[in-house]
Amino acid sequence: MGKNNSVNWQFSGSEAAKEASAATLGSYTSRIMAMCDPNVKPILPPLSEAPETSYTAKKAVVKAVLNDSGNAYAPSIDLPAAKSAVAEYLSRDLPKKLTADDVFMTVGCKQAIELAIEILHTPKANILLPKPGFPWDMVHAIYNKFEVREYTFLREKNYEIDFDSVRALVDENTCAILIINPHNPNGNTYSEAHLKQLAELARELGILVASDEVFRWTVFGSNPFVPMAKFSSIVPVITLGSISKGWNVPGWQTGWLALNDLDGVFQSNKIAITVKNFLSIDDKPPTVIQAAIPTILRKTPKEFFERRQIFLKANVEFAFAKLKDIPALTCYLKTEACTFLWTELNMSLFADIEDDEEFCEKLATEECLVLLPGIAFGLKNWARHSIDMDIFALEDAFVRLKSFCERHSTLVEASSVKDVYGVK
Ligand SMILES: *Cc1c(COP(=O)(O)O)cnc(C)c1O
Repeated sequence: MGKNNSVNWQFSGSEAAKEASAATLGSYTSRIMAMCDPNVKPILPPLSEAPETSYTAKKAVVKAVLNDSGNAYAPSIDLPAAKSAVAEYLSRDLPKKLTADDVFMTVGCKQAIELAIEILHTPKANILLPKPGFPWDMVHAIYNKFEVREYTFLREKNYEIDFDSVRALVDENTCAILIINPHNPNGNTYSEAHLKQLAELARELGILVASDEVFRWTVFGSNPFVPMAKFSSIVPVITLGSISKGWNVPGWQTGWLALNDLDGVFQSNKIAITVKNFLSIDDKPPTVIQAAIPTILRKTPKEFFERRQIFLKANVEFAFAKLKDIPALTCYLKTEACTFLWTELNMSLFADIEDDEEFCEKLATEECLVLLPGIAFGLKNWARHSIDMDIFALEDAFVRLKSFCERHSTLVEASSVKDVYGVK
């Protein structure tokens, strides 16, 4: 002890991931969560209540364990049976069928996103990402120093992609547009007509479309889910997905990247081989889960998804109605997919809150209620509310939210604010 002072240690931690790490949802969530004091009120959303997965999925994994079918490294880069099952599953809705060779198993959808970013990155290239969007693509673009251009949405048109914003961003170095469908956090699902228009636009601009479809199983609005790959006869499409959200098993860390090629473009432009090269030096999802994938995808009864959709739809109806009583928050679209509501904060109605981050921090401190600030998704002064909890917890969450907003409102008399806090 103390002697270390005299040694000139020739190592120190790299800062390469510092900036990217600050942009992850995990960083925002843990910072805000740490402000909740569970001795004051129970934390919402409740930490312990993860929704259950399907019995079929559990049994498939147990069987893979008992049969020793997933103990080894996968023979090639992935387990062929898993790749075939994903190809078959995704092809259900497609005119042009995928084969096992078009599919790569990944460590959740996150690794699929990372791969999509890595394989396209060259020194001059730029990529189009959604604003707002799920931040993992941005995190890896920052990490890889990939130039990002952010396209926007038309709020009054059900959050469709603003094609004018896309057109304005593209130059001769733009290689791809990444979309999220169903969209987290906007909460909408793109119509077939909109996706076809996107395909035609991307073809005209000479860029590929990468589509993050991790939420395709939790769709409960009037727009059905349509996979982007349906239009792979127009434009090359990379599909990104996982079982995380559909089966409520993000901890199983298993997803995929599928190449929906257009007339061999991915072959001739070396995309297929590049994916293989990157995967051969990267982690793979656990073989034991890959071994269970064929049963999980083929045998999970549709009632499992329907029950979840009914549950989420009822919660969205409830939460959306409650938001109408809170003038400082505006939700423009009743969520039709995913497990969130996405609201704009009217900052002029708050007496003592500057922005979305302060809003979320004070809400956590005073009410033990965790919302994520819009800035975590790229949009300042918005907030994302989880609706994935039982109805009593959800009701409690909105009572707390309303009372918090009233307490900090410019519309409240100074004296009644003092009453709430018991200030003399
Ligand atoms: C949760 C989420 C992911 C990450 O999926 P994992 O399978 O857990 O890696 C990717 N994209 C979106 C839009 C998500 O919401």
